Amino acid sequence: MDWPTQDLVAARAAATPDRTALIDADRDESITYREYDAAVGRRAAALNQLTDDDPDRIAVLLDTRPAFAELFFAAMRLGVSVVPLNVRLTPAEVREQVERTEPDALLCERETEATATEVFDGPIASVDDAAAAGVQTLDDIDGAPFEPATLTPETEQLVLFTSGTTGQPKGVRLTVGNLVASATASAFRLGVTRSDRWLCCLPTYHMGGLAPVVRSALYGATVVIQREFDAAETARILDESGITGVSLVPTMLARLLDVGWEPSEQLRFVLLGGAPASDDLLARARERDVPACPTYGMTETASQIATATPEQAAGHEGTVGQPLVNTTVTVVDEDGDPVGTGETGEIVVSGPTVTPGYLDPAVTEDAFGPEGLHTGDIGSRDEDGRLWVHNRVDDRIVTGGENVDPGEVVAVLREHPAVHEAAVVGLDDPEWGERVAALVVPADGGDPTAEEIEGHCRGRLAGFKLPRTVAFADELPRTASGTVDRGAVRKRLRDRQV
Ligand code: ATP
Ligand code: MG
Repeated sequence: MDWPTQDLVAARAAATPDRTALIDADRDESITYREYDAAVGRRAAALNQLTDDDPDRIAVLLDTRPAFAELFFAAMRLGVSVVPLNVRLTPAEVREQVERTEPDALLCERETEATATEVFDGPIASVDDAAAAGVQTLDDIDGAPFEPATLTPETEQLVLFTSGTTGQPKGVRLTVGNLVASATASAFRLGVTRSDRWLCCLPTYHMGGLAPVVRSALYGATVVIQREFDAAETARILDESGITGVSLVPTMLARLLDVGWEPSEQLRFVLLGGAPASDDLLARARERDVPACPTYGMTETASQIATATPEQAAGHEGTVGQPLVNTTVTVVDEDGDPVGTGETGEIVVSGPTVTPGYLDPAVTEDAFGPEGLHTGDIGSRDEDGRLWVHNRVDDRIVTGGENVDPGEVVAVLREHPAVHEAAVVGLDDPEWGERVAALVVPADGGDPTAEEIEGHCRGRLAGFKLPRTVAFADELPRTASGTVDRGAVRKRLRDRQV
């Protein structure tokens, strides 16, 4: 790709105008790249008028829908950065992210209009018509002419918030160069064909949902957008819409398998990331010939860091594969020194997909070391560079001065036949600093007691690693991107204790 460049939809419309660009799965409507380009142009002109003084950023409070994709590329056409906001946040949380990003305009839809007007004083427009509460409709704005921006790799294109698994979501700045590098490296691992159709059923305000929108425009493929994952409906779309690739978090794949879904012939890959995929789930997927590709990625790297195709994963249980091309992974010890093959340490990543930094320079300063971005994840590599992700640095439990790896305790719990899954966290303890606690989801038909679970662990784990508190739940609380919400787990266990 030559730099500087125009936005990706303009480039595509020039190259392949008649190809299908985007399908709205909920309405069964599709547009070509020519039509996509025209829609992006209209939205760009309207945005230009809405923000009349050379905007830097716009915030978008939209659920997953084609209008989001159009706005994203409209902003790119204007050289404006986009701040996708999570529609599931409370108004107070949205206000906080708006204040931190200082957008020049806020775009909303019918369902988010009220929040938009409550939290933002600047220009607001809705992508839906008949907006209530006096919000203007983007389509009703007479567009102002504009000069399309020429983009360089350093142009900021996004401020995307992390899922907030370990604390308050962090605002990650991503450049056009980060997005293009990620799309290119992903294509290197997964391949691209002319008939590719990516189903986007993850929220576009997280990287997993946004990546297919960006990538399909670069590849000239089709992106099929579904507003919300629903096992039966998603299974139908996967079968009937000629889908060749989809990104899922593990719980979604489990639900698809539960409703009896079997992959169609065309399906080339299921990117499975955001949270660890259990060996069980991968075995079930293999039985049905699902082309599952375990993937490790994060917002800060514009999605994938490492991905294993089914062939690459075969015989290497639990691996997320080798890093993508141009991405360098180093595993380091507590002093920041690289550890040997097979040893565990923090995963550090560098390369062209890595963010230039967070919104908050102090957070950036903390996160970068000589080897690159410290991910906060613990992992290890084998002699061929395959990566395993074990858990997060922050998840480590320190009890009576001993370190406990929650992953090890979870693995033992899962060996019990009546346990489906489990999460292990540390709870404050006046005597030991922290104590090990487990939230257990019983297997179907299983009804284990806390005493049984404790007994099961006793012979298999050193005393200080034993869960001292055990509680049960129908499912583990998870964040939107599928990671176990450890704060919520901790809260349930704490409530249980009293
Ligand atoms: P925050 O940074 O605010 O705590 P977050 O890290 O969950 O939130 P994301 O950027 O959405 O926000 O998620 C990236 C993280 O998800 C990774 O750092 C890692 O902890 C986890 N993750 C992603 N893929 C995998 C995987 N295959 N196995 C284990 N963990 C994974
Ligand atoms: Mg993170």
